[in-house]
Amino acid sequence: MLGYRITIFRLYGFYVHVDISWFLLSILIMWSLAVNYFPSAYPGLSNEVYWQMGIVGLLGLCFSIVMHEIGHALVAKYFNMKIGDITLWIFGGVADMQEERNVPKHELLMALAGPAMSVVLAVIFYISFEVIGGYQGQTIASTMAAYLMVVNIALACFNMIPAFPLDGGRVLRALLWFWRHDRLWATRMAGHAGAILAFLIGVFATYQMMQGNLIAGFWAFLIAMFITNAAGSSIREATTHYLFTGHPVSRYMRGDVATVITAMTIEEFVDNYVYQHYLKTFPVVENGQLIGQISIDAIRGTDRKQWPWKTVADFMQPVTPDVIVDPHTDAADAIERMRQLGEQSLIVMHNQQFVGLVSMRDLLQLLSMKLRLEPDIAAR
Ligand SMILES: [Zn+2]
Repeated sequence: MLGYRITIFRLYGFYVHVDISWFLLSILIMWSLAVNYFPSAYPGLSNEVYWQMGIVGLLGLCFSIVMHEIGHALVAKYFNMKIGDITLWIFGGVADMQEERNVPKHELLMALAGPAMSVVLAVIFYISFEVIGGYQGQTIASTMAAYLMVVNIALACFNMIPAFPLDGGRVLRALLWFWRHDRLWATRMAGHAGAILAFLIGVFATYQMMQGNLIAGFWAFLIAMFITNAAGSSIREATTHYLFTGHPVSRYMRGDVATVITAMTIEEFVDNYVYQHYLKTFPVVENGQLIGQISIDAIRGTDRKQWPWKTVADFMQPVTPDVIVDPHTDAADAIERMRQLGEQSLIVMHNQQFVGLVSMRDLLQLLSMKLRLEPDIAAR
C-alpha cells in the first residue's frame, strides 16, 4: 500500500507526504459517510445535505490526522530529535526510520504525543457536542461534533495497537529497549508483535467476509496488509542500520570504478560500460575531476541508429551535491540517503577528487551474505 507518495507540506523541518492510497480511500470514506453513516446518525435530511456532510466529515478526518502528527512533531522538536519524513496513510502517519541516535525515554514520549493529541481533540469535540445541544437538540453541527469525537477516539485506539511502526508499537519498542538496552532486539520484538497482530486481524477479516460483512472485512483486511508490510520493512531497516552504523563508506565503496569521458560515443558507452558493469549511472571524469554523470535514463528513448554519432557530452548531466558523499560518511547514512533520493548509487569524493562509488546493490548483497554466514545477527 505504501508506494507512490506526494509531498504536501513541510512541518517543523520534516516533509509530510501523502500516500497515493489516500486519494482512493478518501473517496470511499466520503461515500460511506454520505450514504451510510450520516443518514443513520441523523435521519430525515436530503441526499445533497448528506453529501455535503460527507465532504466536511472527510476534511474533519484529515484535520484530525494532521493534528495527531503535529502532536508527535511538537515533542520531537522539544527534544531536538532527528526523525524522518512522515507519510500520511488513511489511519494516521508513518515516520521513516531515522532515529538511531535517540534515547528510549524521548521516543516513548514522542510516540505517546500523537494519541494524546487525538484524545484531547476527542474531549474538545465531546464538549462542543454537549454545548450545542447534545442528544436532545440534535443539529447538523452536533452530529458533526459527535462524529469527529468518534474519529479521534478511533485514531487514538488504532494508533495504540502495539504493532511497530504504529505508535503503540513504538511505545512497546521504547519499553523493551529501555529494559534490555538493545535497540535492534527491541525493534525486532515490536516488529514480530506487529506481524502476529496483522495475522489475527487477517483471520478476523476473513471471518467478517464469510459472515457477509464485506465492508468491515475489507477494512480489516486493508489494516492487516498495511501492518504486515510496515512490520516487515521495519525489521529489515533495523537490521541494515545495525550492520552499517559506525562503518565508513570507504569500507564498502568500489574504488576501481569505470569512469567515462565526454568524447566517448554512446555506442561504446552502452556496450563496454553499461553492459559490462550493470550500473545505471556512470561518473564522467576528466583529469581526475568529476565533471558530471550520465545515466541510462537519459539515453533511453533515443534512436539506436544515432548511438555511434552521439557522445557522452550530449547526455551528460550535472552532479547535484545530494549524491556526493565523503569516504568518512557513515554507511547507514549513505543507505538512508539513497532511499530518500531513490538513487541506486552515490559518488564518493575526497578533496574535490573522485575516489569511487558506493552502490545500494553492493550493500544489500553484503547484507544478505552477512545474514547467511552470521545468522545470530538475524535471530537476535
Ligand atoms: Zn501517531
